[in-house]
Amino acid sequence: MTFGIIGQKNGLYALRLLGSCGQFTAQELLAVGTLAQQFGQGCVTATSRGTLELEGIKEDELEAVRDAVRQAGLRLGGTGATVRAVVACKGTTCRRGMFDVHALACSLDKKFYGLEVPKKFKLGVFGCINSLGKAMAQDVGIMPSFTKLGCLELYVGGLAGSRPVHGRHIAVPLTQEQVMQTVAFIIELYRQKGKYPQRLRAVLDGQPELWEEIEQYVKRLAAE
Ligand code: SF4
Repeated sequence: MTFGIIGQKNGLYALRLLGSCGQFTAQELLAVGTLAQQFGQGCVTATSRGTLELEGIKEDELEAVRDAVRQAGLRLGGTGATVRAVVACKGTTCRRGMFDVHALACSLDKKFYGLEVPKKFKLGVFGCINSLGKAMAQDVGIMPSFTKLGCLELYVGGLAGSRPVHGRHIAVPLTQEQVMQTVAFIIELYRQKGKYPQRLRAVLDGQPELWEEIEQYVKRLAAE
């Protein structure tokens, strides 16, 4: 199935629309509303990764909806064996937020979104301890460091599906630039060592020396 289009059990289709790491402008939302009235069932579903889905699209409407999505300047995607839509909490504006969560999420999205990987790869950025559980459910979850103010720490290899597993805490404080470098390193490792349909966690647990490689990489980076 084409990128961003998901078959439904009723024989119809859903189209997944991406904003800017969970944020949609008023104009984009108006366009989404119009699309839902024109082609869908008059409603839109918000997903746990901050995307919006137009549901109930007929097969013979797909081409027209795709064109309308393009014309409205909206992004279709967030499916397949790729780096998925980056999730961000409201830490940029939330009173508890310890850094500019949205800015970092957008930098990650710009650099990594859509890259092909063995199965799928989920990145999440969160602004305080209230989302620790969510950070631990990502392939790479990013949280503030609780030992070094202003720095960030990673949780790697989390899964939130039918067999949930907490990501492993890499307890090394990093700058935002170092986080970007580490995410690039982990994605590359996953691409090189993983095979369809393995998630990152299966790759790392199947080749435990890769956990060590990640930890050594992060320690070296932090020591520079
Ligand atoms: S995780 Fe923390 S910073 Fe982010 S929205 Fe929740 S309370 Fe706010």
